[in-house]
Amino acid sequence: MTKTASHAPVRKTAANRQPTKRVPKGRDPRVGIVSLGCPKALVDSERILSRLRAQGYEITDSYDGADVVIVNTCGFLNSAKQESLDAIGEAIAENGRVIVTGCMGGNEDSIRSVHPSVLSVTGPQQYESVVEAVNNAVPPKHDPFMDLVPPAGLKLTPRHYAYLKISEGCNHRCTFCIIPSLRGDLASRSARDVLIEAENLAKAGVKELLVISQDTSAYGLDLKHAESTWRGRKVKARMTELCDALSELGIWTRLHYVYPYPHVDEIMPLMAEGKVLPYLDIPFQHASPQVLKAMRRPANQEKVLERLRRWREAVPDLTIRSTFIVGFPGETEDDFNFLLDWLDEAQIDRAGCFKYENVDGATANNLEDHVDEDEKQDRWDRFMETQRQISEAKMERKVGTVVDVLIDEVDEDGAIGRSSADAPEIDGNVFINGDEGASLSPGDVVRVTVEAAEDYDLWGSLAPKQ
Ligand code: SF4
Repeated sequence: MTKTASHAPVRKTAANRQPTKRVPKGRDPRVGIVSLGCPKALVDSERILSRLRAQGYEITDSYDGADVVIVNTCGFLNSAKQESLDAIGEAIAENGRVIVTGCMGGNEDSIRSVHPSVLSVTGPQQYESVVEAVNNAVPPKHDPFMDLVPPAGLKLTPRHYAYLKISEGCNHRCTFCIIPSLRGDLASRSARDVLIEAENLAKAGVKELLVISQDTSAYGLDLKHAESTWRGRKVKARMTELCDALSELGIWTRLHYVYPYPHVDEIMPLMAEGKVLPYLDIPFQHASPQVLKAMRRPANQEKVLERLRRWREAVPDLTIRSTFIVGFPGETEDDFNFLLDWLDEAQIDRAGCFKYENVDGATANNLEDHVDEDEKQDRWDRFMETQRQISEAKMERKVGTVVDVLIDEVDEDGAIGRSSADAPEIDGNVFINGDEGASLSPGDVVRVTVEAAEDYDLWGSLAPKQ
């Protein structure tokens, strides 16, 4: 069953008892949005905007033109919280009428103590409450035609790729993370719901679906993998069955936030057949058994290395992306060296690395032996250099090969795209310079002969058509 959005009422306070704004006759009410945080938060923003657009609101990207501004906050790290508070402050200074939602909205006092004048505060996924707050601040124009929104909804990402959220929440309790307390336990959408949304996105011109959740491999566990009907047949709420069904749409499917559970082996044949992109985003976070234990992450690094080896045998062009944390409380020099050696052995293709930070409410804050900031920086530098060398060698080996590239941007100098190895925003790019690149359009999928490589990016020219 799809998790329904919370209908928590918008709390009335002196601050949000501001008079309702009157919109001049003849024009639609306008809403601005500032969307911070991860792709999951971006999907929430898109859902909110789709609902508002359906009610006749115009969406504007300027503070000046907006009758009210929504700030969708991120509350993951303390630095992200500060960024959210700054964004709220800017929206208040520039516009004055501000509605706050998102992860940080789960703790209303932390926002109101800094910005008492915000009109309302709601937590993540409280779409109905945000829409209600906007309706209170600026009533919608009555419009008998509700067909203002394409079935795919409104998207904040470019038209040719879209994030597809398959579940919310998480059953793990990693000690550095407060997402389960903000978003609750795993709650999966039915396969039918996900597939209908994906189908509408494909019909609207989307060429790449980025499947997201907190734990994609756990998809459907809470539903006991219940079947639902799509295109006249039953589809199980389970990662393999969902990926197989998504492949019928004939567009790229990229999997994020996958854990290396044994059943992920089942995805390899789908990748080998070209049904799913040969790309897995697996947030390993560390490799040292002691650190993983302190993080409370379920993992056994030997089995993981063995699994990676078998996956690469089955799918030689598989790209593994991951994220890591260095300087976790109690991480010793030996733990860190273990991580560097593991990285070398695992040959992780793409990696992001964060220096550990305390997060309000996380149990890791209370662990002993916090690592000092200079040491964290030093480990981060060494990690990034090791990863750069792995990536440089891997990219160099791609010179002379032909890769499929999805074009993201085009200007008079050429085109910028991504191969199956590159997720948007976080990985590398493929550049096609000159007239042949400039003649392409965003959303085109072309074959490119790779001619040059740098640490993370590739350059090439169009390959002859097959
Ligand atoms: S898996 Fe761990 S880090 Fe990821 S959302 Fe769940 S608790 Fe947080």
